Amino acid sequence: MRTVVIDGPRSIQVDTWPDPALPGPDGAIVEITAAGICGSDLHFYEADFPIAEPMALGHEAVGTVVETGPQVSTVAVGDQVMVSSVAGCGACPGCATNDPVMCYSGLQIFGAGVLGGAQAELLAVPAADFQLRKIPDGINTEQALLLTDNLATGWAAAQRADIPFGGSVAVIGLGAVGLCAVRSALVQGAATVFAVDRVDGRLQRAEKWGATPVKAPAVESILAATGGRGADSVIDAVATDASMTDALNAVRPGGTVSVVGVHDLQPFPFPALPCLMRSITLRMTTAPVQRTWPELIPLLASGRLDVDGIFTTTLPLDEAAKGYATAASRSGDDVKILLKP
Ligand SMILES: [Zn+2]
Ligand SMILES: [Zn+2]
Repeated sequence: MRTVVIDGPRSIQVDTWPDPALPGPDGAIVEITAAGICGSDLHFYEADFPIAEPMALGHEAVGTVVETGPQVSTVAVGDQVMVSSVAGCGACPGCATNDPVMCYSGLQIFGAGVLGGAQAELLAVPAADFQLRKIPDGINTEQALLLTDNLATGWAAAQRADIPFGGSVAVIGLGAVGLCAVRSALVQGAATVFAVDRVDGRLQRAEKWGATPVKAPAVESILAATGGRGADSVIDAVATDASMTDALNAVRPGGTVSVVGVHDLQPFPFPALPCLMRSITLRMTTAPVQRTWPELIPLLASGRLDVDGIFTTTLPLDEAAKGYATAASRSGDDVKILLKP
């Protein structure tokens, strides 16, 4: 099968690797029909996370089930499915909460060295009953792909930000996760969403969706716009030292900062004393993907939550290198890239 492989900084190949084998009696093989390039894939591309040997990339996929183990009961060969980017064992009390991040064995993410990469023709999925879901009626391919990661992440980020009804929230970073968080925050009752980025095209995109554009760093503008108080909540979809510092300074006393960006491997110089004195709540998580599906699927299918326009580019899998270069440009025109095997 063909699979997208990274073999060094900014070096993307589409290689032919052996077809994956069924990963145990509870596993399945999915033939991928569409895959996303995620901002977190860029950590490998930009060498924030070192790789020891060539590694298959990608963790956002939808496709067709082509093989199942004997223990799989919720999906069958021929089903169109979405694959949770975050995998749990599916059998422990943590996974029983439907949040793979709670897995007692520790979560795994596709395309990060242990599990296969989703930017490929075939993907082996362990604990398929937990990781896979038939794509429900009324959910299109782009929505399903966003449900595997970015929308689940943005939605959970907004929930964990404790946005008061009628309150204000700042969303830092207007890539796909940030734009999903903007949409989610509005659905969850925010009256004011400050959308923060450095790139004009991305600010305009968020403004079109009802947000107030703010050029990063945000703290001065947000303090000015809130009478010096700060936003009730801040969502950080970037998680650099600069964005996290901005988030902690732009939130009001007693407010909540919800981080879903992926920081690099270096420690963050945490301003503990001001956070203590201002009673700041800080939450961080990667996507609790499966837990969000019962909430998000009906909201998407009914049209109450709209994620149209987040995918901006579609490329064949063979042009993955171009897709990564485009994603890494972080331009205003190119937000999210879909690869078609
Ligand atoms: Zn991701
Ligand atoms: Zn588990």
